[in-house]
Amino acid sequence: MTEHQAQPENTTENTEHVLNADATEIAKFAALAHKWWDKTSEFKPLHDINPLRLGFIDEYAGLTGKKVLDVGCGGGILAEGMAASGAQVTGIDLADKSLKIAKLHLHESGLSVEYRKVPVEDLAAEAPASFDVVTCMEMLEHVPSPASVIEACARLCKPGGWVFFSTLNRNAKSYALAVLGAEYIMGMLPRGTHDYARFIKPSELGRMTRTSGLDTVTLTGMTYNPLSKVYKLGADTDVNYMVACRKPL
Ligand code: SAH
Repeated sequence: MTEHQAQPENTTENTEHVLNADATEIAKFAALAHKWWDKTSEFKPLHDINPLRLGFIDEYAGLTGKKVLDVGCGGGILAEGMAASGAQVTGIDLADKSLKIAKLHLHESGLSVEYRKVPVEDLAAEAPASFDVVTCMEMLEHVPSPASVIEACARLCKPGGWVFFSTLNRNAKSYALAVLGAEYIMGMLPRGTHDYARFIKPSELGRMTRTSGLDTVTLTGMTYNPLSKVYKLGADTDVNYMVACRKPL
């Protein structure tokens, strides 16, 4: 087992293979877990972009009545949003504390989401082709093998279904804005939140989704204007971006 493949927290479900997870990454999120629903906290950017990504997902996949899996769900910001839009949502993550907060928050919101601690690769072996929609947002840049996560997401999706990913592009601008700007200058994120080497270029994501048998339908950028403090979807994919993929019938 290498440093990047250590066992995160107490894994309760059976994992026979080496886990595709980085224990320090999981611990980073677990340490902040009590803040998931504090909209002024380190998780503010995720709350701020939530309506944009929800609208994007709903536009393509039509969430009402759909069976949806949210991979790397954290405290459930996106999972709850999709449940509120009428989807039947399962959220998975490997951080116990985040899942605990996600479950507790359901009492506050009155929504229904099933939360499980299970590696996405294991769930793909257990329940292939069982979700209409699979979402995996802001998570690929935290795992040792994004290709393995993408392949598992593709397997979990029903033929004709939709798979959505968002992540950070890798270039000088994304380093300046997502690492130096957000972590060191503006203090929007804790230092060390992002490891630049793990950022993924759209071309690399495209190769991995294609290899997993997914067709990329749309690639859109998510930009942040620090002056107006407004996030927008648009053509600029230099820093944060999102893709909508379809699994062929
Ligand atoms: N998808 C959520 C949270 C993003 S933060 C959102 O966009 O709002 C990244 C999340 O990925 C954290 O909750 C972290 O615990 C989770 N994560 C990191 N590595 C993981 C892995 N290997 N398997 C599952 N979840 C993982």
